[in-house]
Amino acid sequence: MRKTDNGRSIGAKCAASSGIDPAEIKRDFPIFERKIHGHRLVYLDNAATTQKPEQVLAALNSYYRYHNANVHRGLHTLAEEATLAYELTRKKVAEFIGARAPEEIVFTRNATEAINLVAYSWGRANIGPGDRLVVTQMEHHANLVPWIVLAERTGAELKYIPIDGNGELDLETLPKLLTPNTKLVAVTQMSNVLGTINPVRQIGQLARQTGALLLVDGAQAVPHLPVDVADIDADFYVFSAHKMLGPTGVGILYAKFSLLESMEPYNLGGEMISRVSFESVEWNQPPHKFEAGTPDIAGVVAFAAALDYLKRLGLEAVRDHEIELTEYTLNRLSELKHIKVFGPTDPTRRGAAISFVDDKIHPHDLASVLDSRGVAIRAGHHCAQPLTNLLGQISTARASLYIYNDREDVDELVEGLIAARRFFGYV
Ligand code: PMP
Repeated sequence: MRKTDNGRSIGAKCAASSGIDPAEIKRDFPIFERKIHGHRLVYLDNAATTQKPEQVLAALNSYYRYHNANVHRGLHTLAEEATLAYELTRKKVAEFIGARAPEEIVFTRNATEAINLVAYSWGRANIGPGDRLVVTQMEHHANLVPWIVLAERTGAELKYIPIDGNGELDLETLPKLLTPNTKLVAVTQMSNVLGTINPVRQIGQLARQTGALLLVDGAQAVPHLPVDVADIDADFYVFSAHKMLGPTGVGILYAKFSLLESMEPYNLGGEMISRVSFESVEWNQPPHKFEAGTPDIAGVVAFAAALDYLKRLGLEAVRDHEIELTEYTLNRLSELKHIKVFGPTDPTRRGAAISFVDDKIHPHDLASVLDSRGVAIRAGHHCAQPLTNLLGQISTARASLYIYNDREDVDELVEGLIAARRFFGYV
């Protein structure tokens, strides 16, 4: 089935037919057995991190119980098993996002470290005074702070693609921002605040016309919609395992192999060298050149179980489920006249991270009342302070949905928001 830039299946029916059964999925997640303040857990903080299914927990356990050894170093059975499992995940990641080869996948600690790796290793070698970097006004600090600092340290300038009143990028401005000195366009594929899905393929095509590279922050995209880095033609693409059912401590940097070959390593030490004498060193081949020291082997190995889980559901089905649930959530929230929602109103143009404010109650107070009812949301600037301020806020509340959420979870959220009005005496 052909996909659009927002991951929607062309001709996809409404999502009751997505094939995703949240009630059945919930049974795979032991955390949903526990009670929060006497209530069932309604977990709506998936943009921060997702819960882990039994399959991932079992993979972590089995790794430590039966296969634990350091990778790439030993000739004994356990070391070989650990290395095989670690490298198998690399292969699965490559397949999952459409990379040409496993060697284009570098394991980092998280998406943040993957962007920092690019900013230091590629950035310091390729950016100089008068060069230009282009980002958007809706970036997470992870895809903002490294570029602000790189620009400051190198004398480059940093330009922003603005957002419009609907929370979408004003792409008409992009051609004007792209000059022959523009070296990089760094953009999120899905905003963690607005939910907006950006047409990264189209942005990359424009960037390439003036010779700029494209870095995509896919932290909120890969967990939620089909992603094909070759189709996007991204030069760099980053995301985190923990936002897609995997363990914390594992991030992914995809980069075109020729770029990885040309880049200097970011961390120095064991594993990333091919030969060391007292006087000199030779770098190992990518991706090992960028994986100095002992990595989070257990996390990487167990991440394969998360990838298998999502693959079995199918990312098209995940996307259709989230479109349907986002539509339901936006409709239910629109019944509450005191709630203002940010981001696109069309659920096919956005993901399921839904930020909102109450016209009287502070987001932190909303989060506390909801928590007392077992409903977990996030409140704050969501590591996107400039964007939050641009929206005229210091803080917003955010509900973010995933495969195990259903309409009842959304109803609990809405009931909780009404209860908060009662609690603070506004009804
Ligand atoms: N980018 C986006 C859009 C995010 O939502 C996040 C996590 N909130 C990150 C980057 C950073 O991810 P991590 O903390 O796993 O490095």
